[in-house]
Amino acid sequence: MGKVFLIGAGPGDPELLTVKAARLLAAADVVLHDSLVSAEIRALIGHSAEVIDVGKRAGSKLLTQDEINSLLIANARARGIVVRLKGGDPAIFGRAGEEIEALREAGVNYEMVPGITAAFGAAAAAGISLTDRRVASQVLLTTFSRGCEASALDWGAVTSTTTLVLYMPGPDYGEVAARLRESGLPADLPCVVVSNATTSRQQIRWSSVAALASEEKLPAPALLIVGRVASRQVQELAASLGPHRPKPERNRAISVI
Ligand code: SAH
Repeated sequence: MGKVFLIGAGPGDPELLTVKAARLLAAADVVLHDSLVSAEIRALIGHSAEVIDVGKRAGSKLLTQDEINSLLIANARARGIVVRLKGGDPAIFGRAGEEIEALREAGVNYEMVPGITAAFGAAAAAGISLTDRRVASQVLLTTFSRGCEASALDWGAVTSTTTLVLYMPGPDYGEVAARLRESGLPADLPCVVVSNATTSRQQIRWSSVAALASEEKLPAPALLIVGRVASRQVQELAASLGPHRPKPERNRAISVI
């Protein structure tokens, strides 16, 4: 009986892979990866390993989640080291929960190897701090996208000191901006779009909730960081808020930044 390693490949740059992930990729008997995993990272897979692309692009699914679960279980029963490789961190919008459940039910051993999630890669790419004792005391990783993950979105938790990281924003920035406004965020709240963070195709657009709708669309994968930390002048912003740390106000009452 083998073991399944659910491994995070990080946001793109192969150097952001963990040492453990690199070791397991080199030692794997089989690797099942999704489409976010770059060719440079796939190049670290040992030559004797079987490599299966189970990539799921919006609209053209290669394999269903049930089929992936079955493949993981069948491979774990037949082989030693089975690597399930996902972009970013497997536990963030990565369907790790469903795979873990299937493995548990089938009595298959598994271990998780965390990766750097896109939010952290994007923040590093933009050179911003997601928390900042002057302007941001909490971070919310969230998405508007379909599925039950979306219904878990709790806008009540968003305050004036929240940094919001929006995964899978989609190509319609106008709709994203409208939903952010509907949620009570002020029009002049800064935001930054980061596309292909930490790769050679990386692009960054500094904007605001109001200006977002007219921004040029950046290629997927991209995400949006929204909040005071997304200002290039956090220091001036903090000074304008006064000497005390701003008190978190509930959603609709977010004060003008
Ligand atoms: N498990 C992954 C997220 C998978 S959902 C993680 O932890 O990062 C896919 C979404 O992640 C994309 O739509 C995009 O919003 C974001 N994403 C993944 N890689 C990215 C990158 N290099 N740059 C910007 N966003 C990225």
